Amino acid sequence: MKKLLLFITGISILFLAGCSHGNQSHGNEGMGDSLPADPPLGYVIELKPLGNFSHQEAEQLREELVKQLGIITKPKAWVEASVFVGDKKEIPDSCLYKPRNRYWAGKILKMLHEEHGGNDEIVTIGLTHRDISTSIHGHCNYGIMGLSFRPGDACVVSTFRLKRKDDLWKVTTHEFLHSCGLPHCKKNDPKCLMQDAHGKNTFYMKHGLCEDCKKSLRMIMTHQETKYQNT
Ligand SMILES: [Zn+2]
Ligand SMILES: [Zn+2]
Repeated sequence: MKKLLLFITGISILFLAGCSHGNQSHGNEGMGDSLPADPPLGYVIELKPLGNFSHQEAEQLREELVKQLGIITKPKAWVEASVFVGDKKEIPDSCLYKPRNRYWAGKILKMLHEEHGGNDEIVTIGLTHRDISTSIHGHCNYGIMGLSFRPGDACVVSTFRLKRKDDLWKVTTHEFLHSCGLPHCKKNDPKCLMQDAHGKNTFYMKHGLCEDCKKSLRMIMTHQETKYQNT
């Protein structure tokens, strides 16, 4: 089983203002412009309902994701896109930051990763209605919409700060593509799903990937295909 730290090259974070410090902050992206040397396989997605996130809600998201991933990745479709809803799980109290009633997103990621049991071919996306947070850039316990390792095998997405129902598949896709190794949008295109949130929820403006991000994604996918052929 791979050790978590071996393949974490970055942590990709969506921020929303909500911290008592008040200042919006940038994510810690840009930790390298080159593609990861050895991205994990990322074509099988497990949606894992956490706490009171229902199986039915996860199933609705699954249908939307399958549809949208097909649209986003055109004209080159996914080699193998498979999305399924996994078993429900409670978030342990050990993940809770009681002073703000928020759950540490990093602890949730670690938990999801450890449950893989060495199966790096599945990306697990934890889904929660609870508030999640992380500490970054000097801000302790900063409220966020999602967190993922880049690349990695786990993400967590929270609906707590989402304003629109349509935001959910968009945030989930953003985090999943980070898991595949895709960084934030270099063009900073406001319509691109991979644009850095910079503390604001602008997902209502986003409907797909810009050409640059599509190209980067194709490079990652080509690398994966090569990897398959060589083994
Ligand atoms: Zn991001
Ligand atoms: Zn882009």
